[in-house]
Order: sequence, then structure tokens, then C-alpha cells
Amino acid sequence: MLPMLIAFAAAFGLLIGSFLNVVAYRVPLGASVAGGRSECPSCHHQIRAYDNVPVLSWLLLRGHCRDCQAPISRRYPVVEATTAVLWALVAAVAGDTVDVVLGIVLVTALVPITLIDLDHQRIPNVITYPAAATALVAGTAIDPGGELSRVLAGAGAALFLLVPVMVYPSGMGMGDVKLAAVLGLCLGPAVAVAILAALVVGSLTGVLLAARHGVQKARKMRIPFGPYLAVGGVVGIVAGQPLLDAYLSTF
Ligand SMILES: [Zn+2]
Repeated sequence: MLPMLIAFAAAFGLLIGSFLNVVAYRVPLGASVAGGRSECPSCHHQIRAYDNVPVLSWLLLRGHCRDCQAPISRRYPVVEATTAVLWALVAAVAGDTVDVVLGIVLVTALVPITLIDLDHQRIPNVITYPAAATALVAGTAIDPGGELSRVLAGAGAALFLLVPVMVYPSGMGMGDVKLAAVLGLCLGPAVAVAILAALVVGSLTGVLLAARHGVQKARKMRIPFGPYLAVGGVVGIVAGQPLLDAYLSTF
């Protein structure tokens, strides 16, 4: 049963990944994500349905538009495959229904948030607000007893990031605070592991950049914090609860 669920999640994740590419492209432009077929940005020909099959079409077209031969970014198939892997991962590690649903909500929000934050250094409310609302409603409906701890986890994670955002407003922004709240609403107390993982990965990246380019230059490379929170979120889904249990049992 589980292998079938994982395969189903992967297949569905591919289709959702295709949609998330559209979200990441259109949301920063303020365009609607619904309706309007995708077109080639070079020749503006509509993309045919059979050329819009996730990953496969890009491979068959060898990464070029059928009409004008303009290259199609490798990012599209990578995002589709990544979303499929994340959906399959949630299906593989989730312990119960609420974990599956909240894990899916989280990874589906994290993909476009990561892309938009890397492209535009911002995390749009039109993604974090609906993600928070969906997590709240689905969590309460499926697992009413656990909702209080998830809400507290979300509030705690947001407060934890709010302090550095107020004191040093450069590296992080309110988008990161709201994303932390979404992480807490989806992960519950395991959000502590997610935030810690984000800080560790962020610091390691900073050290690596400083080693490679020198401290002065590395300081000027402003890397948004959203992608680190996204990595932390995935760590939280995979290992959050076990790590938290292991840590708490040492007392
Ligand atoms: Zn074209």
C-alpha cells in the first residue's frame, strides 16, 4: 500500500510542480495564476498541451521551444522533479493523515516561495497567507486535539525570527517571519528543528562564501533567508519529530 501511495504522490507532485512554475513566474508580476495558457517568452506561441508534460516534454524537446528554438530554462523540469520528490518524501515519512496533509501543504508552499525569494528577495503574502489558512483549517479539521500546539509552535517560530528582523532589518524580512509561522502551523513543535536547521545551513553557507570570496565580498552577497527556511522545513518533515524526541529524552 505504501509504495502505491508514494508513486501516486510522486505523479501528482509532477503535475503540481508544473503549476508551481507558473506560480513562481506569474505571482511576482501580479498576474493571475489561473487561466491563460502558457506561452514561449521568446516567440509568444502558445505551448501545446503535448509539449507541456512535466519533465518529459523538456527532455523530448531537448530544452528548446518547438517554434523558435529558444532555450527553455532547465529550471522548469528541475522544479517539477523536485516537487515530485518532495511529495513522495512526505508520503513516505508521514506517520498519519494529518502529517501527510500538512506536509503536502508545506512543501507545496515552499517551492514557489524559494524560487520567488531567490529571484526577487521577497516572500509574497499571496502564498504565505493561504498556506497558513489552509494549514490551520486542515489541521483543525483532521486533528483538532493537536491544533493548539501547532498554533503555539507557529507563534513561537514567528516571534523567534521577529526579534532579529526588528534589530537587524537587513538580512531577513517580515516575509521570513510569516514563513516561520507557516512552518510552525504545519510542523508543530518540530518547527524548532526546522529553524535550527535553517540557521545551521545558512551559517555554513555564509562561512563557505567567506572562505571562497573573502569576508568583505561575502557580506555584500545578500542571500535571502527564505530558501534556508525551506530547507529547514524539509528537514523538519523528515527528521523533526524523531530529533525532537531524542533531544527531550536526554533530560
Ligand atoms: Zn518560442
